[in-house]
Amino acid sequence: MDDGLHCYVRVHGCNVHTRACIADAGVALMPGQDAGPSRRRCFNCWRQGGLESEPLLPQVLSYQDMLGASIDAISGAVRLVYCPRGGARLGARVREDVLLQIGGGGAARDSLCRAEAWVAEVSERCLLEKQARRRFLVLVNPASGNGRAQQVWRVVEELWAAVPGIQCTVVHTTHQGDAFERAKVLDLDSCDAIIVVSGDGLVHEVWNGLAARDDAEKALQLPIGHLPGGSGNGLAKSVLDTCGESYGVLDMAFLIAKGGRQPIDLMSVQAAQGGPRTSFLSLAAATISDVDLGSESLRCLGGFRFTLRAIWRVIRPLALHAELVYWPVEVQGLPPAEAPQLSTQLSGEPWKRVEDDFAVFWGVNTAWAASDSMPAPPAALHDGLWHLLVLRGPQISRGTLLSLFLRLESGTHVDLPGVELIRCRAFRLSPTARADGSRAGDGGGLLALDGERVPFGPVQVWPARCTGQVLGR
Ligand code: ADP
Ligand code: MG
Repeated sequence: MDDGLHCYVRVHGCNVHTRACIADAGVALMPGQDAGPSRRRCFNCWRQGGLESEPLLPQVLSYQDMLGASIDAISGAVRLVYCPRGGARLGARVREDVLLQIGGGGAARDSLCRAEAWVAEVSERCLLEKQARRRFLVLVNPASGNGRAQQVWRVVEELWAAVPGIQCTVVHTTHQGDAFERAKVLDLDSCDAIIVVSGDGLVHEVWNGLAARDDAEKALQLPIGHLPGGSGNGLAKSVLDTCGESYGVLDMAFLIAKGGRQPIDLMSVQAAQGGPRTSFLSLAAATISDVDLGSESLRCLGGFRFTLRAIWRVIRPLALHAELVYWPVEVQGLPPAEAPQLSTQLSGEPWKRVEDDFAVFWGVNTAWAASDSMPAPPAALHDGLWHLLVLRGPQISRGTLLSLFLRLESGTHVDLPGVELIRCRAFRLSPTARADGSRAGDGGGLLALDGERVPFGPVQVWPARCTGQVLGR
């Protein structure tokens, strides 16, 4: 451990001379030699928590909880951007920056020069990937959720402004499709990642824009960070959960700033009309798509709109009659690399076929499809699988449907009798007429891909050629 940065920390109303040393696990704070007996006492009682009214700082500020250090040349203080866990939500991060006042008098300039090297080293140690570059293109959707994306961005902007090495170019989307167009023509050398401040719909647009480029393979290497500013926020929740972090804006901003990334499966989706789309999250039909898309008029309520619509759909259930064909995960081998046309039959081994009334159909790529719904607890971001949550045929009852909704957040719905979780590598869902000739009833004709409406009809989900990258590890 080095001799450390000589500085002053304010404790119990007095400045205590302190050495801030770069240790293996974090920044260690120790009483400096100049701290006289009374101030040493002060320091020790601070360390031991002698006064209850005084907030306690740990002796070692772990790099795991820190985003970096910077110098404010005017006040002559070093700021440690420190976000330990300890919020009201279990394990949530809170911002508790620590200010180290450097020197004073004639030695101040020397100290500042030394401090520059010191903060650079601390900042580098805080990064998950050495010299991770963080020039972010930030897309804020003013229309997402109940308009909270701008609020979310203000909190994150303030945090990231204090983190050395983060540069943001901020764009507010002006219309549907704006993010798609921007991703499609983006100069890939102009930024290191795209940050989406919105719900999953805008993430969907960005990945589709990147996938629509001639250089899609390279473009999809550009990682996406998702700050939860919409109503569903399934991607943000899934990434946070994978990383063992609590769900929240500061938590996600912290994780993104750490500079880690991980791969995520992408799917190529063919719907009844239009060219192939790229999906990262979910395909919902029947009751589930109705809860998502049928509640659009209640957008001002934020995520609560889903709850209200779900209650309505327990009272008035609907079912979609459809044929489901899937490639089960249990068999050896993978589906052909090239996705077939929708007009081509998927038949023969190992395809499995089910035709039934589906009250619930929820195909998901990630464990969480929204911040409060975990349709597929075992799903991982990059397992090459989709999980299909299904409630169908004689298993459909109001009781089961209600229990399913109530247990979605804990993931215990998978234990309910009649609820199936099918693991597959590719699938096709084709709405069909029932034996009596009737078709999908009231509202049964909605399909939601990553929360966005797609034309009703047969829809096929196939592994995409490239994987995507998400920020957070
Ligand atoms: P939410 O989770 O609230 O649905 P999304 O991220 O899914 O949030 O975005 C909702 C929709 O808003 C997307 O389809 C997106 O294209 C659209 N959108 C983006 N910018 C704007 C804008 N300025 N005005 C209206 N709609 C927009
Ligand atoms: Mg949406």
